[in-house]
Order: sequence, then C-alpha cells, then structure tokens
Amino acid sequence: MKKAKCNFCILQIQTSRSLPCREALKPNLVIFDIIAFLYLASMRAEFTQKTKEILAARVAYRCSYPGCSLLTIGPGHENEEAVTRTGEAAHIYAASENGPRPNPSLTQEQRSAITNGIWLCKNHARLIDVDTSNFSAETLLMWKQQAEKDTYRKLETLEREVVVDSETLIALQNSLVCSAKWLSAQPDKWVFEVGQFIEGDLQMLRNFAMEFPAIATWNKFILIESQGDGRELASFSWEQVEHGKIRIYCTVKPKAPRTSPHDQGGDIAIDDNFDIFFKDGDFATVQGMDSAIQDIKIHLSSQPGDYLYAPLIGSEIPRYVEKYKSNIPLLQRLIKIEIIRLLTVSLPDSSTKQPSPSLHYINRVLYVQVLEIDERQKLATINLSIEWGNQELWEGKIKLGVNTNRQVIDWNDDDL
Ligand SMILES: [Zn+2]
Repeated sequence: MKKAKCNFCILQIQTSRSLPCREALKPNLVIFDIIAFLYLASMRAEFTQKTKEILAARVAYRCSYPGCSLLTIGPGHENEEAVTRTGEAAHIYAASENGPRPNPSLTQEQRSAITNGIWLCKNHARLIDVDTSNFSAETLLMWKQQAEKDTYRKLETLEREVVVDSETLIALQNSLVCSAKWLSAQPDKWVFEVGQFIEGDLQMLRNFAMEFPAIATWNKFILIESQGDGRELASFSWEQVEHGKIRIYCTVKPKAPRTSPHDQGGDIAIDDNFDIFFKDGDFATVQGMDSAIQDIKIHLSSQPGDYLYAPLIGSEIPRYVEKYKSNIPLLQRLIKIEIIRLLTVSLPDSSTKQPSPSLHYINRVLYVQVLEIDERQKLATINLSIEWGNQELWEGKIKLGVNTNRQVIDWNDDDL
C-alpha cells in the first residue's frame, strides 16, 4: 500500500488508489444530508399559519379524533401573555408524494389547501400517520366533518358537553337510556341519580317502575357504560328528591356464568359482506376464539325480528348508527351499552337449553371506538376492546352490517 493524496483535500492517506480521505468525506456527507433534507422539505406542501388557525378554530381548538376532543390551546406559564398550543394540522392526503395516504393526482396547492387538513392533538396526529391501514383519507374526512358539525351544534344550541365525566350512561331497557351518577353500590343494591335522557323520558321511567312485575325478565336490566358490565334486575323503584332530582334504586341478580371463547364450537366462516366464505372449493370454518369473534359480529349486525324463530336475537346497533351517526362520541357509548346488554341479559329459549346471554363468553367491554361508517355499503367498522369470560383481553376491528331495512331470515336459532 502506498501513500496517496486525497483528491478532495491536502491530506496524505494510505490507499491503493486516489480517493477522498475520511476527513474530506465527513463535511460532504453532512452537506449531502442538508441538501436532501431541503429538497424533500421543499416538496412537502405545508399549511400556512392562517390555514392552521382556521382549521383549529373551526373545531374550537379541540382534537377531531372521535371521542378525544382534547383541548389544544390554553395559557402558558412564562408570562401573562403566553399561550400554549398543543394541536397539529394533519394532512388528510400526504403532504409529499411518499408520505402516508399519498394521492399523486393532487397538486402542491391542493395538498396545502384547507380542504386537505384536519385538526388533531399531538398523539392522534402521530397515530394516523403510523397506522395508515386503519386511518384512510375517507375516514379522516368523515372525522373532520363530524368534528365541525359537533362544534357547530354546540355553538348553535349553547349545548353543554352531553355527559360530564363523573357520570356514566345507564340503560334499564332498550328504550330507556340516560346519563346517571353512582350514589352507592352494595353487592346487589345499586343507587343512581338520573341525569339527561338519551332514549325515552321521565314518563317512561315512571311506567317502567309501575309495570315492573309484569315486564319480561329479558327486558329489565341495568347496564353501566363506565363499568362495561351490567345485571338483570330483581326489583326497581324511584323517587323524586330535592331540586326535582330523580333517584333510582336497583336490586340486581347475580351475573350469569361466563364461558371461555376457546370453548366456542366451530362455525361456517362468513366474509365482510356476510356471505359464506369458501376456501379451496369448500366452506371455510372458524373455531374457538375466531368463532366467538364471528358470533359477536353476527349478533351486533342483526336486529330483533331478523330471525323468524328467534325474534329477540340481535341488537339496536344498526338503529343507533342510523340515528346517532352525526354524534360519534355518543354513538360509541350507545354501542358499548348494547354490547353490555348482549353479555348481561339471558334470552328465553324455546329449546330445553338453559337460557344464557347471547355473548356469554365476554366478561366486560373495555371500550368501543367507531372507525368508519360506510353509508353506501351500510357497514360500520368499530374497534372493540373486551375482556373474555376467561379474563383474557382482546382488541380488534370488527366490520358490522348496519342496514336497518332488511328482510326476516327464515333461520332456526340453532344456526346462530
Ligand atoms: Zn386526540
């Protein structure tokens, strides 16, 4: 090996050929990085400060992610005039050609237009760019419209937040859902103060108490959204206390036994469109936990009356989606309540089998998030987090059919 001169600087280096030395390469690499960064940055269509301010103001500086609504502006600590901003204007279609959710047909101008922005908190701005399979441009556009609509509604009606945090939603029947505050809870005696009615009204609550002994057992329950759990009711009474407040007293039955999702038998697999799924020219089948997940999907997508021989099977979810699609935060809570009903209430069974709740393999619902509503296909995608009957946790996406105009299916209960 001979000594040669670096072809970029004056240093002598040990080399067989004439090459740039290490020292000469270092600054060049840095310069190359800077050039590449500046080039890429110049290709990113950033929003102007004015566009960002308008995006934020149109949702009252709250995150547009369904159910988040985090405040993104407030006072800073440095001085009397300091303002802290924590929100971000996120791009619906990518800001550059290789960003998340790219759309090559857009011009630079369209990428930085206000129509391509959505206001989010920092965490959710990051989340949508990491997991692009869950968060399509269509989903983000829906959230944006939703958040702006909600903000407008609150502004127009001077509406307070629907339910404050210390409260929960409770349901006594499908047609009786309200916000409520826990006052006391003994193992089998629960007391609540009733807030705002979501479904039903005070008169219906009075009738419920009056007619209680005559009401079918599957139609009297207490479901508690914040607990993700519920019970069948043994007795019920109410009273009006000071300031016109309504207090309800519930005696609850023990919880029906839980099962493990792994013990769910096999079933014929269905696809997203509820058609039988074929694999290698034969019916595909699902077993155990997959069978339980499919069973959840079927129950949530069905409505009472869908099945001629089991008219009580099904949920209110398709109806709720239709009625509350413009208020996603409330819709999510109602869907959660409905899943709690299906895991709590035993339906009467004409066969000799012991009656048990439809979703007896779920112990508790942790949370429900509506990811997308496809109104054309009548499908709703939710993210569901549950604790199974054997205490294992599970979280995943489920696509639900939410068509409220369907025909009665002449199936036997055993087919479910
Ligand atoms: Zn957020």
